[in-house]
Amino acid sequence: MTTAVFTHSSGLAHVTPPGHPERVDRLRAINMVLDGPEFAALDRREAPLAERAEVLRCHPEDYVARVEAAVPTDGWASLDGDTHLSPGSMEAALRGVGGCVAAVDAVMAGEVANGFVAMRPPGHHAETETAMGFCLFGNVAIAAKRALDHHGLSRVAVVDFDVHHGNGTQDVLWDEGRVRFASTHQMPLYPGSGAGHEVGAHGQITNVPLTPGSGGSEMRAAYDRVILPMLAGFAPELIMISAGFDAAAADPLANLNWSTADFAWVTGRICDVADAHSGGRVVSTLEGGYDLDALADGVAAHVKVLMERGG
Ligand SMILES: [Zn+2]
Repeated sequence: MTTAVFTHSSGLAHVTPPGHPERVDRLRAINMVLDGPEFAALDRREAPLAERAEVLRCHPEDYVARVEAAVPTDGWASLDGDTHLSPGSMEAALRGVGGCVAAVDAVMAGEVANGFVAMRPPGHHAETETAMGFCLFGNVAIAAKRALDHHGLSRVAVVDFDVHHGNGTQDVLWDEGRVRFASTHQMPLYPGSGAGHEVGAHGQITNVPLTPGSGGSEMRAAYDRVILPMLAGFAPELIMISAGFDAAAADPLANLNWSTADFAWVTGRICDVADAHSGGRVVSTLEGGYDLDALADGVAAHVKVLMERGG
């Protein structure tokens, strides 16, 4: 058993306007680091195009059609002040969804121990009917629904350690009692949601806001005291991770000041729960991370832990 990485060159064809932090170079930096010799054992797979029906697990048809119709034939189109489309955006977004779905399928089939989806645009800010925060479709939420409705699971956990609150995942899964969604995020910060009192329709959502400048110690305490015990009590059959690396100290969009070791730590603790309760099944997908060096270091640390645990 090993770790699969799902990606596709179309992730380089979703082009954002000059100066935008969510840029093609992010995926180039990740590709470069994962090409290193210490990652030779990865099972590298192409992120397939998602079937329309997969996207429709979480978004209405008219929303998908609206995004598709907005894709320009050249230059850019903007869905909001942050969220832009280029001619290659639809394929990239559908392969982002498809990568997550394929990763769930591969892990559920026992082909690989765990998987990481290295694609962009990210997904955790995309609400049911609203693209926002660089995100078009709710990749992780769609794949969680796939695990429930296609694979017949009844308990799936989604853990989001991106520095921003996963408002889209929360919105899409607000009524979904079969999923526990846990998020740590800097507060105050974009998008402004994620207070502790936002608990979902079934009390199944756990939001733990973190203090600006707090560093890895407050994050580790939040996981040790709140999130990991909650996850263990839930005993998920599969754990999904929204892996954003913008809590890194060097990131220009936030200031939680996590180290690379903090990303390895949180990945390892999530894998502990997966080993104890989920048959080791973990599917992780890229969200944010806007300092290229910190992003590459964070992804490398994250994937190394997945490989160690899956090996
Ligand atoms: Zn983020």
